[in-house]
This record gives sequence, C-alpha cells and structure tokens, in this order.
Amino acid sequence: MKQRVEEIRKSKIMATVGPASEAPETLRALVEAGAQIFRLNFSHGTPEHHLEILQEIRRIERETGKTLAVLQDLPGPKVRIGPIQGTSLRLEKGQIFYLYEEERLGTSEGVQVRWPGFSKGLKPGDRIFLGDGDIELEVQDPGPPTRTLVRKGGLLLAGKGVTFADGPKLPSLTDRDRELLELGIRAGFDGIALSYVQTPENLEDARKLLEKADRKIMLFAKIERREALSQLEDIVDLADGIIVARGDLGIAIPLVQLPFEQRRIIRIARRKSKPVFVATQTMASMVDHARPTRAEVTDVFQAAMDGADGILLSEETAIGSYPVETVQWAHRIFIEAERHLAFPTLHGPHDDPNEILAEVCVTVSSQLSTLMIVTPTYSGSTALRVAKRRPKVPILALTPRRDTARRLTFAYGVLPVLSTVKNFSALEEEAQAWIQQHIQIDKPGFLIFLLGLPMERPGITNTLAIRECPPPGPRSKTPEL
Ligand code: PGA
Ligand code: MN
Repeated sequence: MKQRVEEIRKSKIMATVGPASEAPETLRALVEAGAQIFRLNFSHGTPEHHLEILQEIRRIERETGKTLAVLQDLPGPKVRIGPIQGTSLRLEKGQIFYLYEEERLGTSEGVQVRWPGFSKGLKPGDRIFLGDGDIELEVQDPGPPTRTLVRKGGLLLAGKGVTFADGPKLPSLTDRDRELLELGIRAGFDGIALSYVQTPENLEDARKLLEKADRKIMLFAKIERREALSQLEDIVDLADGIIVARGDLGIAIPLVQLPFEQRRIIRIARRKSKPVFVATQTMASMVDHARPTRAEVTDVFQAAMDGADGILLSEETAIGSYPVETVQWAHRIFIEAERHLAFPTLHGPHDDPNEILAEVCVTVSSQLSTLMIVTPTYSGSTALRVAKRRPKVPILALTPRRDTARRLTFAYGVLPVLSTVKNFSALEEEAQAWIQQHIQIDKPGFLIFLLGLPMERPGITNTLAIRECPPPGPRSKTPEL
C-alpha cells in the first residue's frame, strides 16, 4: 500500500513485550500499528521464553517485509529486599528500621537487603529509597546491621527494589548480566541495553563482549542513576544509543529535576548522533484506559520537541489492557509533533567534512520541495549524521548490511532498505523504483542524495546530488561520476 511522504512517521516507537503483547497476533498488531522496535526485558521471565519471542518477531519481519529491531534489556545490578513475613508491612514515619546483610524474614523491625557488604559504602545521613521511591530512609548508623530512620513511611512489599541515593557504588556488569549478554549475542539481538550505568567504564566491559560478535550490535546505556548524570558526555561517547530511564532516574534524583535532565540527556545524545529514547510512564494511564490523558499526550509530543528519536513504552504494552491502542496513539502524537519540529542548525565540529555535508544536505532538503533524502550507507554513520539534524523528510538509507539496517531502525527519520547497488546510477534507479512502489506522489519533488564516491570505498561522504522525482521522461541517464 502506498503512503504519502507526510504520513511516514519519523519518530520511532519501541514497545516492551510482556504478557499483554507476546501472543503472535498481538505482536503482529503492534507492528501494524507502527512499532518498529521491541524491548525484551530480561529482568522478568525466563531467557528461553524471550528467545522464543525474538524468533516470533523475526518471523513477522520476514512476513511483513518491515525491518524490525529487537533490544535485549539486561537486568543490571538491581538490589532488592528479601522476604517479608505476611508479604507486606507498613513503615511509619519516625520509626527505626534495620537493614540486614544476612538472610532473614522481614518484620516491622527490619528486612534483609540482598547485596552482601552493602553497608560498607554507607555513612550517616545517606538516603535510601525502597520501592518506587515511596519509602525514604535515612542512615543513622551504617552497622551492620544498618540502623535507619524512616523519613517517609508507606507499604513495603517483599522483593521491592532498593535505591542508594548517595552510595555505595554498585558493580557494573553482574555475572548474570554477562551470561545473558553472551546469550543475547548468540541469539541475534540488534541492541543490548545496560541498566543502572554509573560510569563510562561500565560500558567498556560490555563493549568487549560485543566486539566478539560477527555483526555490529547497538549498545544502549540506560540513564537511571545519579552518578551517570555527572559523566554524561563520556557515557554517551561510549554508547551507541541512550535511554532516558525515567522510572529509576525519578527516584535517584529529586523528581522535579527530571524534566531538565531529560532535555539535557537528549541534547547531548542528539549532538553526538546517538539515538535517544524517552522511557517510562509516557502513557501510563493507557494500562487501564483506551485513551491517554492530556498530560500524557503533551509528554509524548514534548519528547519529540525535545529532540528524542522516539519513546519506549513499558507497562503500556507489556501488561496493559490496550497495547495496540497505545502504539496507535503514539503514532498520532508523533505525526502531529513532527509538523512543528524546528531545530536550530547544529554547529560543529566544523573541521569534519562529513558533518558539514550532512548539514548542507538537510539545509538543501528544507529549501527545495523535497520528497526524501537518499543515502547509501555501510556502517550507518552517514544516515545517522543526517538523522540527528532532524530533517523534515524521511531518509531512505540503502545498505548492503542487515545489521546496519536493523541499527538504523533506531534512528529518527531513517527508513532502512537492503540494497547491493555499487554505483550512483544504479543507486538512483533503485531509489526511484523504491519510491514508485511505496510512495504516493501527489506533486513532483526532489530527491537529495548524499553519498561517498566511489561507492565501493566506504567511510567517506563527499557528494551531494539533486534529482527530480519522478525522473523527467524520456529517462535522461545520469553520467557516471
Ligand atoms: P526499567 O527501566 O523499565 O527496566 O526499570 C526503565 C526505567 O527505569 O525507566
Ligand atoms: Mn529502570
């Protein structure tokens, strides 16, 4: 079915797969509704089950002919409390509450924290949050056992998460993460997300493992710890993509600081050509309702305006009652937001011809009546340099590599297509043919080509070309450059 160019959504929708969406027909419906990326959350469920879902998504990809990417989200060093007598207990503000290193059944006097040695990194006055930040403790004596004062009370359930707001430092890649990551590489995931990244070094361990793979896999850093915020530039440099993990980040820092940090993270990631996604509670009310709230529509719209490549839906698609409707709403909101996107020119680095050509390409595309930008790309970097400037039109990225095609699925505006063309005139013909087949052209326009010549030599971008679309007939042949 042909689409108008304006109907092609450029922002990407990543959906978490869970009990509410893992049935093959629901996955298919999510793809129909516009989800292009799926997150499999290895904090829940068995690895075997996740691999079955991965296979199902690959089947859907083959059947629909759409490029789909699948992200393995590793649990990371999440600390949880131990069991509780009667499964829950209520903490009152002002009471004393102990945290134990050894195994024991929790009571209103105290609970176990499942991280041997955690008390060593604590000092009096440190804040510790339990659950989603609803319970706040202040350390009086690190112990062990650690004596705390309950600053904010609430209902505590067994197995809830523990957030150390001021320390101690958690390990980066746990043994379990390492095992799952190796499994993920073998199974063929397109991206790996590291949870609770604190420092740039945390990414290096994972990177070493990824380099052993026979293909390029996107390494995503989930920004959800306070420590990560102070070394953001370096973390973004070492990652291939970023997730603004607002769920945990909203506990790690005062909640009112979250909107500013969201924008800062997005700005830094976009400047460095790293796809960036806003996660958690974008449309939380859709877990139970078929329509989002005004605030949620505004939040998704604003994520696009801030410059995000897309959003990551969590509970909405994993356990919600309306997973397909949520994706449909995200689609509608993005289409609307993209009509209004206007980013100032990205300056610098001005000694890089690749950046300058990408800049010129986007400027030209905004001044002519352009249907699409077309770029052949081997590693994906040419397409990413164009994408980060958020052009008004989609970027048709022709690549010989399937891993590159899947990686580019994460980037704003990029439509990856597999192609083996080796010279400019073949490229031009292929792009024109693709557009004839997929796009309904109401009014002729231009295609802006950005490429490196000769095409067999990847790694350089040196040519910008403008062509009419559809091509003027009788077909005038492009002289070979
Ligand atoms: P999670 O990460 O869903 O794996 O917790 C996202 C977040 O913390 O926002
Ligand atoms: Mn998280």
